[in-house]
Amino acid sequence: MVVKINENYLKLKSSYLFVEVARREAEFIKQNPDANVIKMGIGDVTKPLVPSVVKAFSEAVEEMGNADTFMGYGPEQGYEFLAQAIKDDYKKYGVDIDTSEVFISDGAKCDTGNIQEIFGIDNKIAVTDPVYTVYVDTNVMAGRTGEMKDGVYEGLTYLKCNAENAFIPELPSEPVDIIYLCYPNNPTGTTLTKDQLKVFVDYAKENKAIILFDAAYEAFINEDNVPHSIYEIEGAKEVAIEFKSFSKTAGFTGTRCAYTVVPKQLVGYDSEGGEVEINPLWSRRQTTKFNGVSYPVQKAAEATYSEEGQKEIRQVIDYYMANAKIIRESLSDIGLEVYGGISSPYIWVKTPNNMDSWAFFDLLLNEANVIGTPGSGFGPSGEGYLRLTAFNTLENTKEAMDRISKLEF
Ligand code: PLP
Repeated sequence: MVVKINENYLKLKSSYLFVEVARREAEFIKQNPDANVIKMGIGDVTKPLVPSVVKAFSEAVEEMGNADTFMGYGPEQGYEFLAQAIKDDYKKYGVDIDTSEVFISDGAKCDTGNIQEIFGIDNKIAVTDPVYTVYVDTNVMAGRTGEMKDGVYEGLTYLKCNAENAFIPELPSEPVDIIYLCYPNNPTGTTLTKDQLKVFVDYAKENKAIILFDAAYEAFINEDNVPHSIYEIEGAKEVAIEFKSFSKTAGFTGTRCAYTVVPKQLVGYDSEGGEVEINPLWSRRQTTKFNGVSYPVQKAAEATYSEEGQKEIRQVIDYYMANAKIIRESLSDIGLEVYGGISSPYIWVKTPNNMDSWAFFDLLLNEANVIGTPGSGFGPSGEGYLRLTAFNTLENTKEAMDRISKLEF
């Protein structure tokens, strides 16, 4: 007998992207030790937690250090106080959810990655292309795909998004059961209007499909007709799970807190065609495999909803979005085609002269000492694009744009 591994892991290809970015960066720094390299590739925030969050966080830590207020295991699905604050926040968008539909977790990455576990292995999956690779890789790991060929996994449906279709994915041309949508989008930074999203909700209703809607960048929305929640679309509660996170909204990338909304109306089907509620399945999964987010972190997350907290996190988001505007305008001024960056911290740049993504990456690194992320790493339709992020400092963003503006393409 020998230990057999899960061979689906051997099909995975996409860790290549960030490994290769890091390798080229390290090589460049080795050759040019004095270069001031500006990193605009990473999707991590740079501003610290806001004061109201820090206050709530440290007060909760004090409580944990006092015998009278100490807390042990909390509810796996999260504390009611935070679920209630989340429920109240949804009211801003006219959405009514129940606290029992909210599952607090340590990240939208884990949730979007783990959710597929509660669905059958033979479901057909659709993702947009380019895509946040977690959706793809977790389905590869589970065995819902074949091998990767020509940059795509067999058995997966890719919904192309590029400048030709204004980054609006078309409905799948073959039957699918589960559709991952992420809006505002990572990596393209583009959005869907309510009407555009409704097309997918209607499709899901007609085809008994489920939409997994990742709204991790919801807080960056600056356009009136862009929905903050998929549940703003009529009927979406019957067909969609929504993922949200405090990571980009409130600088929690290192603090870890997110949540998933699984409406009570949402159903899937057993092998006999009988309806099965999804909410209890996710609850069972979480209560079995997850032991909840720490009390201080949940108190910190709750503080983001206070009046002061809202004001403070808005200021931070505005800071990043001012960077996004600078990037958009500077690159447009030199004749580059740019997308996103209006309701998103990501700017998706078309490479000049039909350069491929890696060639443009190398050019920016070598000539401007600026690091982006090659679009081709997010899927075949990302070829010919490069992602820049607005999460750097204002000074670095300006400096990077000055350097790029001096280049000749
Ligand atoms: N979803 C998308 C689309 C993301 O881009 C990211 C992070 O980059 C995440 C989820 C991860 O969020 P979290 O930090 O809550 O795990």
